[in-house]
Amino acid sequence: MNIGEKNKNGQVLLLKMDTKSTNHPFAKIWVVQCDKCGNKYGCNSCDAHIRKCPTCDKSAATAEPI
Ligand SMILES: [Zn+2]
Repeated sequence: MNIGEKNKNGQVLLLKMDTKSTNHPFAKIWVVQCDKCGNKYGCNSCDAHIRKCPTCDKSAATAEPI
């Protein structure tokens, strides 16, 4: 994904950090924002394209630290 791009769940990529993911061995932490509630949170770079907002969707994975 590129900065500013939105995935199919309405999550917009804001920033690609250099920090290693806490839940995926080869991923980095990316900052995404929900287009429904405005929540900004961390997700791992491997899941960004399918990520769901942890505030709007109870089935979403826990956010990564940012
Ligand atoms: Zn949301």
